Amino acid sequence: MRSRPIGFLLSTLAGAALAFGGTAAASATPPATPAPGSAPAGNIGTADACYTWSGTLQEGSSGEAVRQLQIRVAGYPGTGNQIAIDGVFGPATKAAVQRFQAAYGLAADGIAGAQTFSKIYELQDDDCTPVNFTYAELNRCNSDWSGGKVSAATARANALVTMWKLQAMRHAMGDRPITVNGGFRSVSCNSAVGGAANSRHLYGHAADLGAGSQGFCALAQAARNHGFTEILGPGYPGHNDHTHVAGGSGRFWSAPSCGI
Ligand SMILES: [Zn+2]
Repeated sequence: MRSRPIGFLLSTLAGAALAFGGTAAASATPPATPAPGSAPAGNIGTADACYTWSGTLQEGSSGEAVRQLQIRVAGYPGTGNQIAIDGVFGPATKAAVQRFQAAYGLAADGIAGAQTFSKIYELQDDDCTPVNFTYAELNRCNSDWSGGKVSAATARANALVTMWKLQAMRHAMGDRPITVNGGFRSVSCNSAVGGAANSRHLYGHAADLGAGSQGFCALAQAARNHGFTEILGPGYPGHNDHTHVAGGSGRFWSAPSCGI
């Protein structure tokens, strides 16, 4: 969440305050925000405890700021697609930003500026997870993300992307809570529950969803629109009591009882 909810307003007004002899520095000292006068046109202002963007991003932009944006819009790739989290703002990223903007009633121009970042700040917690999901929900195996098929840092980073996909799906389904019964598994946790040897749970990509108020089939059907390349649900062996969703390369969707 935005740590300084009035930061954007203050920095927007910084110029006016200076014009009236005010001291902008005393009223607004958000970290990593350009000093008044040095901010680019369309200054996006506010500070956020997780990550603060310092300028508008659009097709052709690149770098860490783009990569951070891609994580936040990973749930808006279009049906059956997944966007690359590669720091390169290409057409797929632009389309994802447009879908994100449309989902929240913003002007869908595909340019990430003040309004888009403001919405993202509202949607994220200080640890960069979306407000409705937590690292703890995505890892009921251990506390340090170790022992999987990738490094702990990679597993945790993959889980973060999964959470943003779930946040997009949750919003599209009317903002009703989505129950997450587990995600990352170490090799030993995976063995203990009889998981497949190359399960995407071992990479941090996967989440197992409870029925919640939506039901397994509605979850499986919606997941197709939000970047999940693996969807397993009712009718698929071992998945009559949950819906499994995951990112990662390739596509495998199977929930025969749900028409998938
Ligand atoms: Zn699963």
